[in-house]
Amino acid sequence: MSVLVMKFGGTSVANLDRIRRAAKRVGVEVAKGHNVIVIVSAMAGRTNELVGWVEETSPLFDAREYDAVVSSGENITAGLMALTLQEMDVPARSWQGWQVPVQTTSSHSAARIEGIPNDNIMAKFDEGMQVAVVAGFQGVSPEGRITTLGRGGSDTTAVAFAAAFEAERCDIYTDVDGVYTTDPRICEKARKLDRIAFEEMLELASLGAKVLQTRSVELAMRYGVRLRVLSSFEEQSDNAGTLVCAEEDIMESNVVAGVAHSRDEAKLTLISVADRPGIAALIFSALSEAGVNVDMIVQNISEEGRTDMTFSCPTNQVARAEQALDKARADEILNYRDVIADTGVAKISVVGIGMRSHTGVAAKMFKALSDEGINIKVITTSEIKISVLIDRKYTELAVQALHDAFELEKQS
Ligand code: ASP
Ligand code: MG
Repeated sequence: MSVLVMKFGGTSVANLDRIRRAAKRVGVEVAKGHNVIVIVSAMAGRTNELVGWVEETSPLFDAREYDAVVSSGENITAGLMALTLQEMDVPARSWQGWQVPVQTTSSHSAARIEGIPNDNIMAKFDEGMQVAVVAGFQGVSPEGRITTLGRGGSDTTAVAFAAAFEAERCDIYTDVDGVYTTDPRICEKARKLDRIAFEEMLELASLGAKVLQTRSVELAMRYGVRLRVLSSFEEQSDNAGTLVCAEEDIMESNVVAGVAHSRDEAKLTLISVADRPGIAALIFSALSEAGVNVDMIVQNISEEGRTDMTFSCPTNQVARAEQALDKARADEILNYRDVIADTGVAKISVVGIGMRSHTGVAAKMFKALSDEGINIKVITTSEIKISVLIDRKYTELAVQALHDAFELEKQS
């Protein structure tokens, strides 16, 4: 028996007509002889509405009830999709997370999937059910309460099912026709990639390319699930969309696969902290206890035993970071002269597995930015990524300049 996982995002199931169109695609795969597991999101906008209701009712909400409410959008779509398939004479049944069961941790609103026993659904496939429609984004905790997986979590549901059922492929239907070299809204030369490596996709997803939830890519990489991202609004051919796959499955690729940007960045500098063992540990434990997600870190050269420490975090965490640092100073845990916050920065990154074996990528990136008169404030690198912080107002210009410099409009 060959199993295919097909996931439909919120815009692909936004109304009954779109559910019908999605169901037709499922019907095509069933006709080819597949058993299909369909993972559905809530209808577009529904989850936001549910979150809004929870926040209005109870600003400091109980996370278990948040999950009870917010998971319900997917239940509606799952039932409607099963009904639509039945109307097309395709034997289908809907499943909520707890019925499968999708076993998760008990971190409500950000639960992780721990296991998906496949025997219940397999038994139904054996009895003649051809499609299992599963509500994405939700599971059940060891305590037996409904959990959700974090926003965008249906992608992760889909990949986890593909792994649990050893599916042939996991097709993610969305409102874009694949993964692009950069955001097509700010760079008209952006090109759709036919294939991209798991590692590259992971970097792009965590850098804010919103096509896939980061965790779904991590899972796909760990279990070797071939993921295809494609549009549910276009006619499909066999090589439609973008295949996210292992590096070995990509014959030719550019040194740089894509340029990512994130506008939600702030830079904080602690002026004049002692330069001795343990200081960085103190600063970053204070920040992590306060729930600040630190991204880049730079320690400047030290003079007379004092140094400056710069780090970046999301803009909406600046106040929290300043508060945590203030408190550490008041408690005499930490000594520094001042904190300077720059909330007008953006992060621009180039990503590509080719960087492992090619030199000169950093030089080319910095030259392209300097040719546009863009000043670099912070730089960090990893094996397959170089990121810089720049003034936010130059975001578009920087992305376009880098796309040109690395000739991403051309396929290698
Ligand atoms: N409906 C949920 C959300 O909007 C999960 C998903 O669609 O992936 O975050
Ligand atoms: Mg999504």
